[in-house]
Amino acid sequence: MAVDSFPAKARKISTNIGAHYVDNARKLPWRSPPGGDLPDPYHVWLSEIMLQQTTVGAVKSYFEKFTDRWPTVQDLATAEEADVLAAWAGLGYYARARNLHKCAVYVTEKLDGIFPQKESELLKLPGVGAYTAAAIAAIAFGERAVVVDANIERLVARLFVIDTPLPKGKADIRRAMDAITPRRGAGDFAQACMDMGATICTSKNPKCDICPVQKQCAAHAAGNMEYYPVKPPKKAKPVRRARFFWIEQQGKILLSTRPSKGMLAGMRGLPDDGWAAGNDGHMKPPIAGEWLVHDNIVQHSFTHFSLEVDLAVYQEQKIVTNKDDNIWWALDDIAEAGLPTLFVKAVKWKLKEEK
Ligand code: SF4
Repeated sequence: MAVDSFPAKARKISTNIGAHYVDNARKLPWRSPPGGDLPDPYHVWLSEIMLQQTTVGAVKSYFEKFTDRWPTVQDLATAEEADVLAAWAGLGYYARARNLHKCAVYVTEKLDGIFPQKESELLKLPGVGAYTAAAIAAIAFGERAVVVDANIERLVARLFVIDTPLPKGKADIRRAMDAITPRRGAGDFAQACMDMGATICTSKNPKCDICPVQKQCAAHAAGNMEYYPVKPPKKAKPVRRARFFWIEQQGKILLSTRPSKGMLAGMRGLPDDGWAAGNDGHMKPPIAGEWLVHDNIVQHSFTHFSLEVDLAVYQEQKIVTNKDDNIWWALDDIAEAGLPTLFVKAVKWKLKEEK
């Protein structure tokens, strides 16, 4: 692959993708139409943080909920972190929500509520990595930044048959994206490539028949589109065991606030046995008494491990008093507790089992 030796091909790809975007851009609540005014940097930043490892379909309603409740970065900065975490519940990867709040506070207190415009400055913000900095710089400020997300990675790897396996192949992919990124309109171009990857150049069964760069696509010419991007061999995930504890009285269950460090830090959840990414839980209940244990009621997949969860239900009729950060939560209002998906699964299992 020597992108630099094919400037004509790079130009053609750039032109065709840009032209296709004009009539086919997805309408998303954080976007401006192609060629329109630059969108609000707060919206671009918020959407890009939400979109990390999450689909557009899942993000839309969260984006609208956040911007209704916190219309500006200053509003978000004044929110309690616990409220932000609860509003984020269900989106996963909760470190993003903590960094989101931290970044809002930083921008408000240190930068007078104004996002920096340069990719290099954006990179200094909490929770903003290389991809996000490039995306905000290009989309919100029109800087010619090279934006590479997973959709673009797939599209570019196919166009230029980049066969170095990921993650090593990322450097070649970035060089290729650099070669096709236009000097003007880098934000629209990045979004055009994202849309192409999401809707046409899909992982399985890419729609090459309607692809505006089919003639320039080396993988299509070779007939092996799905071979790209080349992924490293999959490692088996370790399986961890955990136990959650269900203590119910007078229509309420006991919830606890998780420690400020570690998995799902700072989130509300059922009391548990101290499981973590690196170890099983100890299985010991938080209070003495009789417990009924249901084995393996929930299986949940995290990025680096899977979790199998038992649910232990407190059987005693004695009234349990509150302690530490625990809180009694009405079961009728459990949807408002802001529980992460893992705990939602356990609660749903228990409520279904009772019917
Ligand atoms: Fe993707 Fe097919 Fe278009 Fe190539 S021709 S970029 S594989 S959709």
